[in-house]
Amino acid sequence: MNSRRNFLQKLAASVIAFPLLSPEAISSMEYADTKTDDGPPLRVAIMGLGSYGTRVAEAMKDCKRARLTGVVSGTPAKITNWQTKYNIPEKNCYSYETFDTIKDNPEIDVVYVTTPNGLHHDNVIRAAKAGKHVICEKPMALNAKEGQEMVDACKKANVKLLVGYRMHFEPKTLEIIRMRKDGELGKILFFQGLSGFTIGDPTQWRLNKALSGGGSMMDIGIYSINGARYMIGEEPIWVTAEETKTNPQKFKPGVDETIQFQLGFPSGAVASCLSTYNMNNLDRFFLNAEKGFAELQPATGYGPIKGRTNKGELTQPHITHQTVQMDEMAGIILDGKQPVVPVDGEEGVRDLKKIDAIYKSVSTGKRVELR
Ligand code: NAD
Repeated sequence: MNSRRNFLQKLAASVIAFPLLSPEAISSMEYADTKTDDGPPLRVAIMGLGSYGTRVAEAMKDCKRARLTGVVSGTPAKITNWQTKYNIPEKNCYSYETFDTIKDNPEIDVVYVTTPNGLHHDNVIRAAKAGKHVICEKPMALNAKEGQEMVDACKKANVKLLVGYRMHFEPKTLEIIRMRKDGELGKILFFQGLSGFTIGDPTQWRLNKALSGGGSMMDIGIYSINGARYMIGEEPIWVTAEETKTNPQKFKPGVDETIQFQLGFPSGAVASCLSTYNMNNLDRFFLNAEKGFAELQPATGYGPIKGRTNKGELTQPHITHQTVQMDEMAGIILDGKQPVVPVDGEEGVRDLKKIDAIYKSVSTGKRVELR
């Protein structure tokens, strides 16, 4: 049964049972705590109420198990707006000054960090110290060292750390992974990953090295790195990379516009990828193997993802990625469910190690070994 409809029916009954409580108070109380059809709800506070945080909040409206119960923001007007829009009680709203008191709030299980990349490290560690599980957006941090510190802090605090890798739950992607695992494609030989868009406003944080950690590679190129790993099913052992910059005014030192990179895998498979902030609609994965092929285009956008293999079109249905992701993450956090492709902090660090190596290869002009 639809959990939200179920809840609304209960809400109507509560208003009759508790006439002195405002419907809003009952609503937030009940909605936060009522069991879902799949078990207890995952109660989520979003930190950083920007464009992606909003997308996650909207997607969670259709979740069976994950529920938005709190917010963390430095902008009071945004908090008020979100309170009205998502029915969030005052006691579950935090500024960055009051955030640490979230440790005393039993209505929040997990903090979902959707702030700019450069803030993930400190935000995640703060949430862990407050005893909350954490979901952190990609890229998990600015480099592997930071990422590892986050993993260690969450382990020490005995909380789970997940990275918002929504593609790890996408049905067409998972079908290709299944075919590869079941041997239907044979030996994997080659992967091509193309990830890019033309970035606008030159003043945005994505083009500010301190907040972004780099340029297109941190933001969009990471999809090709991550995709190469889950499509091929191995960890790369070497990297080579070359940078092209056509607009040094817009893309300052340390902010990459376009990087081409190659990855070598233990089986002998290779990947050839492009990450760019200077070409639109670049979102394509292609996997070549001895017995067949698989392609996805678009491969990582918000969907619908389109794809085909040597056997024909992929027809798995589209469901809003963040809705599936948040319900699956509820199972991972609350029930210890294991995803097909990991989404834990260690997985985030694996990608960051490749990004570190790519930047090193760009600056040295040499192949970087990853073993
Ligand atoms: P955004 O600029 O729209 O939102 C960032 C939010 O952080 C804003 O609300 C801003 O007010 C807040 N913030 C807090 N401290 C800030 C500071 N010091 N400077 C600037 N902003 C500050 O960005 P976004 O597109 O929502 O991206 C946020 C994160 O989500 C990034 O890490 C990004 O990589 C990730 N993201 C992931 C996906 C995905 O598909 N998984 C898609 C888009 C963005």
